[in-house]
Amino acid sequence: MTDIARLVSEIAQEMRGAAERGTVASYIPPLAAIDPGRFGLCVTLADGSVHLAGDADEPFSIQSVSKVFALTQALGKVGDSLWRRVGREPSGTPFNSIVQLEREEGVPRNPFINAGAIVVCDVNLAGHEPRVSIGELLRFVRHLADDESIAIDEAVARAEQTTGFRNIALANYMKAFGNLTHAPELTLGVYFHQCAIAMSCRQLAAAGRFLMHGGSSQPGAPRVVSAQRARRINALMLTCGHYDASGDFAFRVGLPGKSGVGGGILAIAPGQASIAVWSPGLNANGNSLLGTLALERLTEATGWSIFAA
Ligand code: GLN
Repeated sequence: MTDIARLVSEIAQEMRGAAERGTVASYIPPLAAIDPGRFGLCVTLADGSVHLAGDADEPFSIQSVSKVFALTQALGKVGDSLWRRVGREPSGTPFNSIVQLEREEGVPRNPFINAGAIVVCDVNLAGHEPRVSIGELLRFVRHLADDESIAIDEAVARAEQTTGFRNIALANYMKAFGNLTHAPELTLGVYFHQCAIAMSCRQLAAAGRFLMHGGSSQPGAPRVVSAQRARRINALMLTCGHYDASGDFAFRVGLPGKSGVGGGILAIAPGQASIAVWSPGLNANGNSLLGTLALERLTEATGWSIFAA
């Protein structure tokens, strides 16, 4: 067994036994039913080797981790003009906050808070039916992960459609400022389905490889994005990927990361690894409690950090 394989299984074992596991998101009813005892970890190394532990092959709701893929898609469509409609500064506010939107005239701080991700969906929707737009994102994610079995959990999408009042408020508010081009319900349909994509840690780590390899899923493979774009997406993940806990995540883990309320985190060690972790219990900021701790253990042991000499 290589060191990394041993490390991955040791971390999973420690997390399995952890007493403090955080709180499973309950505002999306199907997520409330998930067993907080689940834990999965997958480390895909630059050499292509895959190291798994725990429930790493169990699909879970990726939720806001999907914002990384939707952002990549939107940048591919409209390039830097996206930044006229969405900022790229950390918000210092929770993922579903509305307060800055009034002062900043309907332009969300960044593409990873909900308001920003809804604008990204609006960009991706241009020229399409919602069904086609979501199909396009799903195909993109399947391509990145090289896995055709990835699907959308319709029950989760439906639940968000009926309970997502804050997101509905955000979309309507931005529409009032002229920052949504489609009817709010159409853009939200795309957003809710995107959040309901279900993936395992293995699939998520595979999908993140293009951010580890400077824009290609494998060295020498055709580019998904340019090296500059991959660096910039990583920069946004580092500064904004964990909302008002992004600073804490950078301090503890030292890698670009994107969390979701399903308990998943995708973290990228550029040139080294694409890492996905899943533990459904969340901390007060809505980020996976044990997922963050597992990543902290992993980066401490490996020395992976974008701040390392
Ligand atoms: N679908 C969730 C929501 O809109 C995503 C939030 C998250 O994962 N942080 O509330």
